[in-house]
Amino acid sequence: MAAFPLPPGSVIGILGGGQLGRMLAQAAARLGFDAAILEREHDAPAGRVAARVIEGAYDDPDALARLAEVAGVVTYEFENVPAASVERLVSLGAEVAPGPRALAVAQDRFEEKTFLNANGAPTVAFAAANTPDEAIAAVTSIGAPALMKTRREGYDGKGQRWVEHAADAARIFAGLGSVPVIVEAPAEFVRELSVIAARGRDGSTAVYPLAENHHEQGILRRSLAPAHASPALTEQAERIARRVLQGLEYVGVIGIELFELKDGRLLVNEIAPRVHNTGHWTQDGCEVDQFEQHIRAVAGWPLGPTAATARVEMLNLLGDEVDGWKKFASEAETRIHLYGKREAKPGRKMGHVNKVKPLR
Ligand code: AMP
Repeated sequence: MAAFPLPPGSVIGILGGGQLGRMLAQAAARLGFDAAILEREHDAPAGRVAARVIEGAYDDPDALARLAEVAGVVTYEFENVPAASVERLVSLGAEVAPGPRALAVAQDRFEEKTFLNANGAPTVAFAAANTPDEAIAAVTSIGAPALMKTRREGYDGKGQRWVEHAADAARIFAGLGSVPVIVEAPAEFVRELSVIAARGRDGSTAVYPLAENHHEQGILRRSLAPAHASPALTEQAERIARRVLQGLEYVGVIGIELFELKDGRLLVNEIAPRVHNTGHWTQDGCEVDQFEQHIRAVAGWPLGPTAATARVEMLNLLGDEVDGWKKFASEAETRIHLYGKREAKPGRKMGHVNKVKPLR
């Protein structure tokens, strides 16, 4: 068992070799740690900047054993890590953060909304369904139109469909693969916001300023942060973040997606038990960014300050938008973060830029 705080020179294990793993590995290196990435793909974005790479599937017992052996703590960059892999790591004596409960809650939209409501973090009304008849009953009880989502493995707007009439529910249930679903009431939001927050091993918490987020076809295009927000709205978001962190006895950084309603109330859409795309602005707009904050938290270090130092517009570079690097490089206000991905497929997140302005 590792003793916390982990000293510099320790190894931070990271499941997943994408851009979030890459930026976590870079932050870890800055604090004197070595990152060990477990990733199936040779040449993945994170592997190319990490001190060590363990090539293997996320459920490969040998790869997990090698990771458990070297890492003082193991964390992850995506929430669909198989629960059995985390159990295996824990049974091998590894410290895994965020822990299995956070992962279980975040992997299942029904468990997630049930947890949120039980912990004073409000959501839209929802109902679960496992059969075509239950799907009809769920839409009837919530009221159409309603949004039907697979309970597990949806991301970037995938695995969800609007149901305009209860009579369509069985067909849409089948179209989603006849897997367990959740039916949600529509949130009549005026803005989509998110709050990034962290909890340390000592139970201390730190909350970043709100970001305002704009999606296209389910994919985040841009974030504006700190979002314009009244003190009451900010206080509501902070209260929600602290309740979620405490309810999960969380260790690490969490992303909480919020709907702002016309009457000023916030509802939680979903939580991501990891660093989050809507927190990329913190790299150039906050005292300590979300990646360093996550490494500090899982390593048992004190959390860093989260105050904004600049106003940021974060733009995701999707597909061949990354070819604009020369233009971005010529702009004094633009900070460039590219992920080193070899192939620019349409819609693929290739990098992001943070356009920075003074706070006032
Ligand atoms: P999700 O995959 O749950 O993050 O949803 C993707 C996007 O769909 C959100 O960012 C919202 O724009 C929209 N959305 C999700 N759930 C709802 C809802 N209950 N009501 C209205 N819009 C929603």
